[in-house]
Amino acid sequence: MSRFLSRSCPRWLLPRTLAPRAIRSYASTSTPEFDWQDPLGSKNLLTEEELAVSETAERYCQEQLLPRVLQAYRDENYDPLILREMGELGLLGATIEGYGCAGVSTVAGGLITRAVERVDSGYRSAMSVQSSLVMGPIADFGTAEQKERYLPQMVQGKLLGAFGLTEPNHGSDPGSMETTAREHPTKKGYYLLSGAKTWITNSPIADVLLVWAKLQATGKIRGFLVDRRDCPTGTLETPAIKNKNGLRASITGMIQLDDCPVPHENMFPEVEGLRGPFTCLNSARYGIALGTMGALEDCIEMARTYALERKQFKNNPIAKYQLVQKKLADAATDAAYGTLVAIQVGRLKDQGKATPEMISMIKRQNCDKALQNARVLQEIFGGNAVSDEYGIGRHVANLFVTQTYEGQSDIHSLILGRAITGLQAFV
Ligand SMILES: Cc1cc2nc3c(=O)[nH]c(=O)nc-3n(C[C@H](O)[C@H](O)[C@H](O)COP(=O)(O)OP(=O)(O)OC[C@H]3O[C@@H](n4cnc5c(N)ncnc54)[C@H](O)[C@@H]3O)c2cc1C
Repeated sequence: MSRFLSRSCPRWLLPRTLAPRAIRSYASTSTPEFDWQDPLGSKNLLTEEELAVSETAERYCQEQLLPRVLQAYRDENYDPLILREMGELGLLGATIEGYGCAGVSTVAGGLITRAVERVDSGYRSAMSVQSSLVMGPIADFGTAEQKERYLPQMVQGKLLGAFGLTEPNHGSDPGSMETTAREHPTKKGYYLLSGAKTWITNSPIADVLLVWAKLQATGKIRGFLVDRRDCPTGTLETPAIKNKNGLRASITGMIQLDDCPVPHENMFPEVEGLRGPFTCLNSARYGIALGTMGALEDCIEMARTYALERKQFKNNPIAKYQLVQKKLADAATDAAYGTLVAIQVGRLKDQGKATPEMISMIKRQNCDKALQNARVLQEIFGGNAVSDEYGIGRHVANLFVTQTYEGQSDIHSLILGRAITGLQAFV
């Protein structure tokens, strides 16, 4: 019997059926080894299903996405077939129940985003918009007809979605949006949508665009499923925004609506005000919190490999120098902490115990830490950091965007500050 067991865990305290086996296995356990890729053993918190989902996603991303990303980033090109491939593997809308969706846990959904973002935040953004920002709200707020019409196609990546909240003049403050929906003056049962949305992921390739607009009759924000197939020419335009310096492997554009007729039955029936968009953003922000840990882990792995191979001063690998080791230690610590907190909040979310402030906290912290550490790890590559072939510069540029969209970090500070003090500092 080990010293630990004999001193601190008398046999009578162990459940009777477990006692003999538990004691034997404790006694035979050798000293655990530190795993720099999972420093705090987060894998131990995952179920078998979550581990299987994670492995499937990681394999697909490393084998199918990684070889494409460099050229896609250079060309600022997104291949919509990627969403088809993800659909075939069950990676889209994975936390939704029914309609062909996998119905896995929140944590498993986050592990998918982590695997995708390990390759590129742009690929993860395209997937998150499809899964959390369009399929999610349809599942949460849609009518039975809306669910039947869109979800079975979207889960396969055969119909692509976009989420239009941000406007040219209203980003952090979407409550002031100017896009409106008014009753069609002549066509009964239709609204006319007018306005402009900008910085919209997937908009140029989307078949169904979830547009948030103020209903003219009430002044309240409502969600509308704008189906491109039904829009008369000239009423919906979705020009791409080109020459981005981040998230270049995803496609971003505008949504321009000019008296676009949308049937009443394409409006979400119940949800009103900012609760609609913010509920969807909550799920997507959770995915970003675990996703950015994938990007950071990739930076750590690349920087470690580089530091072990690169030799300076008396033929020493630069990994031997303390300043370089501190950069790796800081980054590995933040990635490990960020992963654990995301698992904790994911568990609470599935138990109905997660608050929006918790999601704000982990989205803000993980995005900030991923960006800060990636910028520091970039230094390890010296001049080579400037070459896109080393990949680290791409992650740094992407991580700036993750810190900015879905609530810029300072806006999440204000959300947390309001919750802590009871005083709101937005205006
Ligand atoms: C590549 C990319 C993809 C995107 N995809 C989507 C998408 O699919 N759908 C969508 O709807 N949007 C999308 N966005 C938009 C994104 O969500 C917004 O850019 C973000 O919300 C910030 O809004 P803004 O750019 O208008 O900045 P602003 O709101 O103008 O903010 C500028 C700065 O001012 C700060 N600030 C603002 N108000 C305050 C305040 N009260 N106190 C202190 N500081 C403040 C902000 O924190 C920020 O640092 C995307 C953006 C990018 C870059």
